[in-house]
Amino acid sequence: MRYYIPTEVFFEKDCVRNHGAELARYGKKCLIVTGRNSSRRNGALQDVADTLKQEGIQYEIFDQIEENPSIETVMEARKNGLSAQAEFVVGIGGGSPLDAAKAIALMIANPEADESVLYRKTELSALPVVAVPTTAGTGSEATPYSILTIHREQTKRSIAHKIFPALALTDAKYLAFAPQNVIVNTAIDTLAHLIESNLNANANAYNRIFSEQGMILWAKTKDCLMSGELTEVDYENLMIASTIGGMAISHTSTSLPHGLSYMLTYHFGTPHGKAVGVFLPGYVRLCAGEVPEETRRVLSLLEFTDPDAFEDWIMKLLGKVLIPADMWEQNVELILQNPAKLANVPCAVGKDEIFAMYSMQS
Ligand code: NAP
Ligand code: ZN
Repeated sequence: MRYYIPTEVFFEKDCVRNHGAELARYGKKCLIVTGRNSSRRNGALQDVADTLKQEGIQYEIFDQIEENPSIETVMEARKNGLSAQAEFVVGIGGGSPLDAAKAIALMIANPEADESVLYRKTELSALPVVAVPTTAGTGSEATPYSILTIHREQTKRSIAHKIFPALALTDAKYLAFAPQNVIVNTAIDTLAHLIESNLNANANAYNRIFSEQGMILWAKTKDCLMSGELTEVDYENLMIASTIGGMAISHTSTSLPHGLSYMLTYHFGTPHGKAVGVFLPGYVRLCAGEVPEETRRVLSLLEFTDPDAFEDWIMKLLGKVLIPADMWEQNVELILQNPAKLANVPCAVGKDEIFAMYSMQS
């Protein structure tokens, strides 16, 4: 068993403004990486800009990160980072800007390298990354993963480099600005991280500390996710569960629902959390048959009586997601060629078992 999370994580109200001194450790010039709109509306960009100014740190803003960021965007942002002589990168936003920030930090630190290094296993260092999450979903602030869209392969994949943020400044106040669909989809992503890391061949007593505590917190938000009426405490529980979910998958990686989701996101633009959620009930059902004791414990921590109750709840929250039959078949074939994802499943699986995982078509 091994435990490794090198990220310094703070969680509190006004977290960014309270931790200028920690930000100042990483240099005098930085590149801020964010999405096109939300960080201006929810105040996160202002918090970072004011704090950097107060610490005498110069910054340039790259605010063109799209959802499911692409290699092309990462390469574009590197130009800004190099011209700003950035010594560190601050990612502000959901998982998309945070993941992009990690890849951009790698490319700035290696100015001679071209994009092919992103997916080549080499020993390259990256600039320090500071993560300011504004969604409660991916936990990217506490994971080493950076998932990019690869247009030429028509899919998404984690880069070959493991880049943990050096510092994560987490504050649930930004969630109050997010629309209900973003809150729901990202909360389902957290749920998927917690389940997929617990029902996982790499799960053990060290990393189940995270997934189990995360599920206890997540379960408290079930009713308000359904009703759409969230309090400050609900936002806090979601944000903490999200970061903890990131810590959990950092040790185990994700499993089949994540592996199967990328096709839905690439071809239909289905948001990440929703695309993963489609396959969660099938995964829980598969595990209930093969590792019943572990699955019962997961369902009980999440306060569901059985796999059917879990499926009913998710379907009600997400609505139906239709996948054309030929595309589903193609997706199953593709995942069967991904030994890394199959190895994370806590039982042997073949085509029939995976095929049975998608049950929301009718
Ligand atoms: P996202 O793609 O970062 O953002 C989704 C939308 O929410 C965007 O339109 C964004 O607007 C908006 N938004 C973000 N914060 C908001 C707020 N506080 N208020 C209002 N709107 C807000 O969504 P995400 O689900 O957080 O991230 C998904 C990405 O993370 C995917 O690429 C996925 O593959 C990746 N991921 C990474 C990991 C990891 O371990 N690194 C794990 C799971 C998933 P703007 O575009 O204007 O900012
Ligand atoms: Zn995810």
